[in-house]
Amino acid sequence: MRIVEPYIKVEKIDGTKIMKKIERACRTCYRSEGSITEDSYKRLLNNCITRGHESVLEHEKVTVRIYSDIGSYKDLTRHRFASFSVESTRYCSYDKDKYGNEIAFINPVYIEDKEMYETWKETMQMIENNYIKMKQLGAANDMCRELLPHSTAAEYTMTANIREWKHILGLRTTKHVHPAIRQVLIPLLKYFKEEMPEIFNEVEYDEDFNPDYYAKFIVEEEV
Ligand SMILES: Cc1cc2nc3c(=O)[nH]c(=O)nc-3n(C[C@H](O)[C@H](O)[C@H](O)COP(=O)(O)OP(=O)(O)OC[C@H]3O[C@@H](n4cnc5c(N)ncnc54)[C@H](O)[C@@H]3O)c2cc1C
Repeated sequence: MRIVEPYIKVEKIDGTKIMKKIERACRTCYRSEGSITEDSYKRLLNNCITRGHESVLEHEKVTVRIYSDIGSYKDLTRHRFASFSVESTRYCSYDKDKYGNEIAFINPVYIEDKEMYETWKETMQMIENNYIKMKQLGAANDMCRELLPHSTAAEYTMTANIREWKHILGLRTTKHVHPAIRQVLIPLLKYFKEEMPEIFNEVEYDEDFNPDYYAKFIVEEEV
């Protein structure tokens, strides 16, 4: 059994370029392309967002790759306007060499009590033992996956347009949301706030969430 830490990889973006592209699309509405200046996108976006004219944000998208637990994608895949490719527990056979012949579980760092944490760990070990035992008895992945808990580590690629990201990050970074999701999405929101302040600055998040729990945040050319 391997206890692993979560991460989120996001494609390298140029936030200003994204906002300028949104501005160009939006100005089609008023045929005011001639009014574009170096920073005219700021006022335009502010006006659009204040008035609820948010469909213009749908012209641009961002892709991320998240390594977290099954519980987190169970919740995030409820967002109907995002697209997902999720590691399959039907096709991935964790007894194979490729997976180190073991199951990876995301470290629930937010279980701080030692006894509770040890209970979690013992349970994961028992699950892995029985997964491998079922495999040895000839069980198919479809049967073995019935044992896998929310803590099972999984990678998923998620793409959404800017409007949907604004919506998702507003909903999924508050204190009402499971810590496994806050771990990966608060760092993403902070990145978007830096890159696209005109769009994301108003989005609030749980500022009391312990930054030590943040998932590793990686910016890459391609995710
Ligand atoms: C704190 C929290 C707790 C939750 N608890 C539960 C729970 O206990 N059980 C549970 O089942 N779910 C739960 N959810 C999931 C929640 O109900 C939504 O299904 C999920 O967050 C997706 O959000 P969304 O509906 O805004 O969808 P998205 O798919 O992201 O849609 C974006 C927006 O489009 C509009 N839209 C999309 N589809 C429709 C439609 N058919 N009709 C009208 N408008 C639409 C809405 O304005 C919606 O907000 C919880 C979510 C949160 C954040």
